[in-house]
Amino acid sequence: MSDNLTLPANETRDPAQSLPAAGLTHATLPSLVGRTRAGIAAALDDIGVPLKEQRMRTGQIWNWLYHHGVADFAEIKNVGKDLKSALEARFTLARPTVSAAQVSKDGTRKWLVRMPSTGPRDKGAEIECVYIPEADRGTLCVSSQVGCTLTCTFCHTGTQKLVRNLTTEEIVAQLVVARDMLGDFPGRTRPTDGLLPGDGSRFVSNVVFMGMGEPLYNLGAVSDAIDTIADGDGLSLGRRRITVSTSGVVPEIGPLGSRTNSMLAISLHAVRDDLRNELVPLNRKYPIAALLDACRGYPGLSNARRITFEYVMLKGVNDSDAEARELVRLLKGIPAKINLIPFNPWPGTRYECSDWDRIERFSDIVFRAGYASPVRTPRGRDILAACGQLKSETEKLSARARLMLDEADAADARRA
Ligand code: SAH
Ligand code: SF4
Repeated sequence: MSDNLTLPANETRDPAQSLPAAGLTHATLPSLVGRTRAGIAAALDDIGVPLKEQRMRTGQIWNWLYHHGVADFAEIKNVGKDLKSALEARFTLARPTVSAAQVSKDGTRKWLVRMPSTGPRDKGAEIECVYIPEADRGTLCVSSQVGCTLTCTFCHTGTQKLVRNLTTEEIVAQLVVARDMLGDFPGRTRPTDGLLPGDGSRFVSNVVFMGMGEPLYNLGAVSDAIDTIADGDGLSLGRRRITVSTSGVVPEIGPLGSRTNSMLAISLHAVRDDLRNELVPLNRKYPIAALLDACRGYPGLSNARRITFEYVMLKGVNDSDAEARELVRLLKGIPAKINLIPFNPWPGTRYECSDWDRIERFSDIVFRAGYASPVRTPRGRDILAACGQLKSETEKLSARARLMLDEADAADARRA
């Protein structure tokens, strides 16, 4: 596939890439894909499976769905015909649709994923999902919301008007879709058109909540999604390979750790409150000192389980030597990794990325203080797949129109 090419998923020539279309013909039935164990048990209950059988049946379906990645009940082997037909009559194993797939020349892949409709006026949320292959790992960057209610000034997602939380199913489905697209389920065909981790391991080995949205504003769904993707009988991603990135929703940081045991990343980006107030407006509510206190109390924190501090390099804004030294001083005593992110520009932004020698100088200071301080290599820039660039354009107006219609409906209902 040539670089920077947008294709409807069902027109790609790669057999692995046509899989997600499976089941779309039953679009009106709810899908079990993305459900928690409780959600699958509820489906079994709906079709009259006796309570005492539900646990065992849930386990079977779970394994076929999340370990084998089946997209059709017929492929399930250890469940009787009657139960399969009962399931088929009421549910599907359909995935969300991949409406566009792009491959960067560096192997980064971006998929535009349309979630199933949630009602007659909903065309379904559209989000972007990015896969970044490296020599020793494959990282999937998932979204937790459509858009974001926060308005960090350097972030494209923050300019999107439409915002809603994604459901647990919609979050988990992003990983299922990625595995479909990469042929990353047992016995599937893998794409040959881009770089993939060469060590024969699973293609998706890590998940980061660094796509669209603020995960700690959707902690319930994010936690259930983490339980689902970390389950050893299914998608099996270790919790230490799941990282949740937050702009600093202080009261939810502790609960995230105790509920999910996942890794934490903090979008710090500034070392003074006046500047951070501007870059990450949430800082006005939860200033740097409070944020770092919450980090110090993060459950399970140790030198083997460090917090990642993300710092986007903005030319002439936050990239001086003094700021590098202050960064190191602030993080003293917190088991930390520092991740310097070259700013990814987007149309209309007021910021520029720091010059390369400035980034190196900043990184040197951090390195000399004992931090590995990797500068995150820009990936997928040719397909606008980089951090902070994710934004779905298509749904803005129609979504707003829908909201107005829903409001009108609610008003009618009140009058009736
Ligand atoms: N809302 C969460 C997670 C999504 S943003 C958060 O803010 O942490 C994921 C990361 O991308 C954050 O560190 C964010 O600050 C960074 N980011 C946003 N816009 C960016 C841009 N234009 N260039 C580089 N990084 C960006
Ligand atoms: Fe939202 Fe994170 Fe972007 Fe800030 S950086 S607007 S919190 S997605």
